[in-house]
Amino acid sequence: MQCVACGRRSSYNRAVVDTVTDSEIGVLCPECEHEQFGQMLETGDWTDDECVLCDRDGFYALPEWRAYVVEIDGRRISRSEYSMEPACPALCDKHYGELSETTTVRAENPVSPQP
Ligand SMILES: [Zn+2]
Ligand SMILES: [Zn+2]
Repeated sequence: MQCVACGRRSSYNRAVVDTVTDSEIGVLCPECEHEQFGQMLETGDWTDDECVLCDRDGFYALPEWRAYVVEIDGRRISRSEYSMEPACPALCDKHYGELSETTTVRAENPVSPQP
């Protein structure tokens, strides 16, 4: 899974879930979460279905991945999963678009003018 904002494959922090189709469309890495939202996703209260940045409906949920350990045949295996309960932060289509658009902006290496 790639981070929807920076396109990197590295560590993930939150899943990005399309709540209409209930499908996972990517992840949001810790760097991008802090860059885009600071601490607000961790500390906020997300009991309604609205976008975290405006009052439109949130279509893209950002549940946190949680690691846990299962024991299979006596071996401890770490797994991770996300849960949509309790309520998690969500983004509307517009703000999700803005978040994922930063990918293309950063992917194009801007050519700096020659001195
Ligand atoms: Zn990222
Ligand atoms: Zn919004």
